[in-house]
Amino acid sequence: IMVCAGTGCLSSNSQKVKDRLVEEIKNRKLQDKVEIVKTGCFGFCELGPVVVVHPQGYFYCRVQPEDVTELFDNHIAQGKPVQRLLYKNPSTGEVTEKMDDNKFFQPQTRVSLRNCGVINPEELKEYIARDGYYALAKALMEMTPEEVVQAITASELRGRGGAGFPSGKKWAFTASVQQEMKYVVCNADEGDPGAFMDRSILEGDPHSILEAMAIAAYAVGAKEGYIYVRAEYPVAVERLERAIEDALQTGLLGENILGTGFSFTVEIRLGAGAFVCGEETALLRSVTGQRGEPRSRPPYPAVSGLWEKPTLLNNVETYANIPQIILQGPAWFASMGTEGSKGTKIFSLAGKINNTGLIEVPMGTTLRTIVYDIGGGIPQGKSFKAIQTGGPSGGCLPTEHLDKPIDYDSLTEIGSMMGSGGLIVMDESDCMVDIARFYLEFTQDESCGKCTPCRIGTKRLLEIVTGITEGRGSLSDLDMLVELGHDIQEASLCGLGQTAPNPVLSTLEYFRDEYEAHIKEKR
Ligand code: SF4
Repeated sequence: IMVCAGTGCLSSNSQKVKDRLVEEIKNRKLQDKVEIVKTGCFGFCELGPVVVVHPQGYFYCRVQPEDVTELFDNHIAQGKPVQRLLYKNPSTGEVTEKMDDNKFFQPQTRVSLRNCGVINPEELKEYIARDGYYALAKALMEMTPEEVVQAITASELRGRGGAGFPSGKKWAFTASVQQEMKYVVCNADEGDPGAFMDRSILEGDPHSILEAMAIAAYAVGAKEGYIYVRAEYPVAVERLERAIEDALQTGLLGENILGTGFSFTVEIRLGAGAFVCGEETALLRSVTGQRGEPRSRPPYPAVSGLWEKPTLLNNVETYANIPQIILQGPAWFASMGTEGSKGTKIFSLAGKINNTGLIEVPMGTTLRTIVYDIGGGIPQGKSFKAIQTGGPSGGCLPTEHLDKPIDYDSLTEIGSMMGSGGLIVMDESDCMVDIARFYLEFTQDESCGKCTPCRIGTKRLLEIVTGITEGRGSLSDLDMLVELGHDIQEASLCGLGQTAPNPVLSTLEYFRDEYEAHIKEKR
């Protein structure tokens, strides 16, 4: 019996469900027949706590401690599923028994999330049973560092943290710098409202990140690594700490890994909640104990990063792809996705959508498939209005873009961006001017204040938008918003400021009538 122990399900009581299951097994003396396995996130967070019973694979939703007796009486004792706990589609009423039959899971391809909901993240042997650390062994024993870099380059993997920079190029730059001391860093400072991709990987499959970092260290010539993770992710931190400890004790990290002479260790650094520390140069400063402020580039971290040494920095999801690329080959990875964006992408679905949760789909999947097939459409029969992609600095896209296959380039073309993968859906009752104001408040709050266009510019943008929502706006304000927005995009020092105007600019482009309605109401 698999019980989800991701943060989503833990917050809806899954630990108590697990305790009751253990108690019931004891009461019925089934210890040698039934095992309870705690897992990472299955993805269908809306339905937590999630329990899956094998070998049949029945998928039970919103299980509570008081349901456990019935689960044993019917399912375990007689093999009959408990109908009322199975998934029922809120729109069609259709009941689905197993994960494989569920429309939420069917269109998905799980590469980065392949072990989440499948293994106990606190058991190294379960990771190894899923080919864990085989990619590291292959890299160390059968490949040169150059061949590892070539494999990542040939896979055409792009960084999943937001910018979409080709990972192979980044690895090659870092590898080419001749320095005795180099570092490998994992960016786990996931700060977008509504985003929990990285958290779920760390909670559900922490060893995959350690393995990937060790492979990266071998490829670029580093010996030490750091994972910069939000302090607001205590479950992820705890599982990472345990994973590091277990890997060290079994010789999968530390000195002379697998007897190959290669050594690599990893330390965790906790972030203190500043959104800007997701920006690479701010993050690196924060790791070394300095104020988390971006700096201009060049030099890039590949040349001068942690303690001014060459540093390879990737985010959690980027690393989660690495072991599979090494094991299955770059051509396998590049066979998925679109011309310019290969592989799969994890998205967190939030907002006005029936199936909130975490999904992984091939690049090029349309927003319609995500919102209606996987997401189950809009609750309460309301109609779709917009979807925000790319977190607080992304754009809000209207219905006309629902059939757009999404990848890094197609989203930029239509005024939004991939970002790290947060998707927030809005329905007919949402005011898009209020939405733009909400995101501006967030970015204004999180601006580090180092450069004027972002520090002052986002403040002015927010004042103008607030004036419009409070009936103090005029039509000339709309031109000012566009002009100021473009100035901030062009003149800001880091990605936070460069993308902060996106929610205003995209809502002005697609929902200008709502701004005009606020202004006309005043008259
Ligand atoms: Fe700081 Fe904003 Fe300038 Fe980035 S753009 S350095 S967050 S003030």
